[in-house]
Amino acid sequence: MNLELDGMHALVCGASEGIGRATATELASLGANVTVLARREAALREVAATLDTSRGQRHGFLAVDAGDTNGLRTSVAALTRAWPVHILVNNSGGPPGGRAIDADIAAFVDAYTKHLIANQTLAQALVPGMREAGYGRIVNIISTSVYEPIPNLGVSNTTRGAVASWAKTLSRELAAGGITVNNVLPGFTETGRIDAIVADRSAKEGKTPEQVRAGMLASVPAGRFAKPSETAALIAFLCGPSAAYITGQSIAVDGGRMQSI
Ligand code: NAD
Repeated sequence: MNLELDGMHALVCGASEGIGRATATELASLGANVTVLARREAALREVAATLDTSRGQRHGFLAVDAGDTNGLRTSVAALTRAWPVHILVNNSGGPPGGRAIDADIAAFVDAYTKHLIANQTLAQALVPGMREAGYGRIVNIISTSVYEPIPNLGVSNTTRGAVASWAKTLSRELAAGGITVNNVLPGFTETGRIDAIVADRSAKEGKTPEQVRAGMLASVPAGRFAKPSETAALIAFLCGPSAAYITGQSIAVDGGRMQSI
């Protein structure tokens, strides 16, 4: 099996922490040059400085808000002119919790902008370079909610479904050019996002964070939350040469939590 990414350039979004950071770490350890993208320059500098350089890899960063569509387009166009990108990992912070019926229109627009529109903006900027290279990998970090919507994540569930549908459409449009498009669906994963979800449920349900966590764990057959590196391992596989014939798929890393087949 060939997992090696020597000579490849990966753009990993939402990479200052959590699953994005773990993904940047994994891709660099497989030989990729990595550009990490998120909002905070100081955090990104720190991440880029910790990535593996043992095979002569070069790493960089782009400090830009996924909600700033024009800023994203401009900075990524400049990046790919200077250094074509073979691997795009689309990822951003999850939308706030709450029921769909209670959500403001602005919350839907915000989530669509930071996820669907950001993904489309990045893909449009990077796919021409992937086509030229004859190698492209687009992996979207979404959620198991594309199969089983999660209560109290109304805006998130809706946005994730749109991203999954976009990705499936794109996968069929791009497959002949050697470009694959897949979705990785994290289950409960030990990151800042899970802490935010626990805090939100704790406030809404009048339970302690420990009680909320215990309730969530009861739904996971594996009996624990995922480590970000476990999710990153699947993402890295999908980015590699051996995954060339896998496209248009949504694959969960959830410890067996989803009930559907
Ligand atoms: P996280 O909150 O730990 O990290 C999110 C990353 O995105 C950070 O680097 C953050 O700085 C960056 N980010 C946030 N808003 C941004 C913006 N507007 N512009 C640019 N960068 C931005 O999240 P995570 O746990 O690593 O999750 C990654 C994705 O997977 C999220 O969409 C999350 O909702 C989803 N997910 C996570 C879990 C989980 O249990 N952790 C479960 C299901 C789905």
